Amino acid sequence: MLGAIEAGGTKFVCAVGDEKGTIIERIQIPTTIPEKTMKEVIAFFQKYEVDAIGIGSFGPIDVNKESPTYGYITSTPKTAWKDYPFIQTMKDAFSVPIGFNTDVNAAALGEATLGAAKGLDSCLYITVGTGIGAGALVQGKLLQGLSHPEMGHTFVRRHPNDSYDGTCPYHKDCLEGLAAGPGIEARWGEKGIDLSERSEVWELEGYYIAQALMQYILIISPKKIILGGGVMKQKQVFPFIYKHLTELMNHYVDLPELTDYIVSPGLGDDAGITGSLLLAYEALQQD
Ligand code: ADP
Ligand code: ZN
Repeated sequence: MLGAIEAGGTKFVCAVGDEKGTIIERIQIPTTIPEKTMKEVIAFFQKYEVDAIGIGSFGPIDVNKESPTYGYITSTPKTAWKDYPFIQTMKDAFSVPIGFNTDVNAAALGEATLGAAKGLDSCLYITVGTGIGAGALVQGKLLQGLSHPEMGHTFVRRHPNDSYDGTCPYHKDCLEGLAAGPGIEARWGEKGIDLSERSEVWELEGYYIAQALMQYILIISPKKIILGGGVMKQKQVFPFIYKHLTELMNHYVDLPELTDYIVSPGLGDDAGITGSLLLAYEALQQD
């Protein structure tokens, strides 16, 4: 029996299941303060005999096993969770191996093992939601270096008619600042879900996402690109992404058919929690 936590800024999903992605039971817990949220997380897993637990967490987090703060949530703007020892808290409650990575790296692992990139040793998983984040599997391994990737904060060229400042507290008009859900809402004055009929919204969204994808393709050369998160439920963005990416790339890199190459998650909203089960499985095997 494996345990999994998909720790998000608004909610935690906890599940028990196996490495085939079968989920036996799951719950959702609102993300409030660690004392409250983690108490409920621990109470959930105490009902089971789990052999390992995988955590896919919002970040930034410390994923460097050599670091004294390995397993911490680090400089998050959610102040109650800043410098929070996530792994240690779980270890104190359960003496089992703990896998730990970003929510989007977990989702990339889930999609590469059981979802839209099944069988591939390379993929990119991008979420466009409250923020924009990406995880990558490169040559069969989750991408990590100095720390984990932060691809949502790359810069894009502004559309000449877009005068919106951008919401990113660090960079204003990075990709996340311009194209995540809160940026869409602030620019257009309505939530994305209520803007479905306005094609100019999704054309601009596609314009920005395509630029970022071009950079990611040039740098990482993923075999599959998976776009998840709330904003990507607006499926009409995809054709705009294909159009702008084709123009930008200008045949420089030979890409597969874009409708096969850039897709929605095969695991739907379960990419992150399924990937977290797989992180648990990895931790168990490495133990
Ligand atoms: P989170 O990123 O917090 O895990 P989501 O991926 O649901 O959660 O992202 C939430 C953001 O996405 C909000 O800004 C919300 O307005 C936007 N969003 C959620 N669902 C939709 C939708 N169906 N269409 C457009 N925007 C959406
Ligand atoms: Zn930024």
